[in-house]
Amino acid sequence: MPIAGIFGPDDFENPVPGRPVTPARRRVSAAEQARALPTPSLEWSPEVERATAHLYERVKNVISPVEWPFMAPYVKAINELKKVRGAVILAHNYQTPEIFHCVADIGGDSLQLAIEATKVKSDIIVQCGVHFMAETSKILNPHKTVLIPDSRAGCSLASSITAADVRLLRQRFPGVPVVAYVNTSADVKAEIDICCTSSNAVQVVESLNAPTVIFLPDQYLAKYVASKTKVKIIAWKGACEVHERFTGSTAHMINWVRTNRPKRVVMITECSMADNVQAELPDVEMVRPCNLCPDNVQAELPDVEMVRPCNLCPHMKRITLPKILDSLIYLREEVTIDPAIAAKARRSVERMLNLKN
Ligand code: SF4
Repeated sequence: MPIAGIFGPDDFENPVPGRPVTPARRRVSAAEQARALPTPSLEWSPEVERATAHLYERVKNVISPVEWPFMAPYVKAINELKKVRGAVILAHNYQTPEIFHCVADIGGDSLQLAIEATKVKSDIIVQCGVHFMAETSKILNPHKTVLIPDSRAGCSLASSITAADVRLLRQRFPGVPVVAYVNTSADVKAEIDICCTSSNAVQVVESLNAPTVIFLPDQYLAKYVASKTKVKIIAWKGACEVHERFTGSTAHMINWVRTNRPKRVVMITECSMADNVQAELPDVEMVRPCNLCPDNVQAELPDVEMVRPCNLCPHMKRITLPKILDSLIYLREEVTIDPAIAAKARRSVERMLNLKN
């Protein structure tokens, strides 16, 4: 069934003022300075080389020996401070390999990370991912301190819709239930009926037993869901700038490669994820889209549109080893959510988690 309607901010007479803008990274506050731990040495030395050799083994086929001496002192310092702070580091699949394989305790997609975080004993969670992921961890772990190394790590998809937009959609379509992808802010999650992921979206929509459902914010996922169900779908004009041309659940892709172990695979997704899979499965040859080097062909044929399979999420790449270290030294930047909003948002996430498979 085709999409029944598709709405964006410009379709309302009164656009929402103050749509989120990325703030400047703030300086270390006096309170953060007061609780800071001493900055560790960040020199490359034989001791650092020895202490991190087992970690370099994990990433040696994606990080060159020239790069490692710049990363290893941070890796060692982060792993030591993590113990001092009693913190756990969660890393999304799109984080770079030195983060994903060398300092993270838990890796996965955004929902896997938030769920896993509920099972750990640590009171401090450092979320290496984008802001809505840190919020989801906070929603499911309200009594834990959730830190994000750079709070400016946003998401084009999550910022395409606000809570006020959802309220306007509800006014326009009274009584129609609202489903939202987990890639939304806590404010938006608090306004919807139920969350979904890319792998359970159809099941979630059909679980509502409604003839029409508002599905947001990803218009491409909405189109996919509409093609798989008889439920009439009203979509939102949101899109991920990285995945605009590609769809597919990250968890499913990784599991498929793990299970099928093809000799060669081209993983058309965010590029750091392909690096992380390559580091984990060195026997699978990852045909790197970057090696196809479309730049040279593009330079020669400027009128040909080159669909570039290599995509890096610029927001994810705001998280770096120095910022993770900074987070552990100063316990910054803490993610806070109004408790009333967090409680409403938790309902929409838990409603999805409680759906039977
Ligand atoms: S890859 Fe897309 S959806 Fe994921 S964080 Fe980046 S912009 Fe958002």
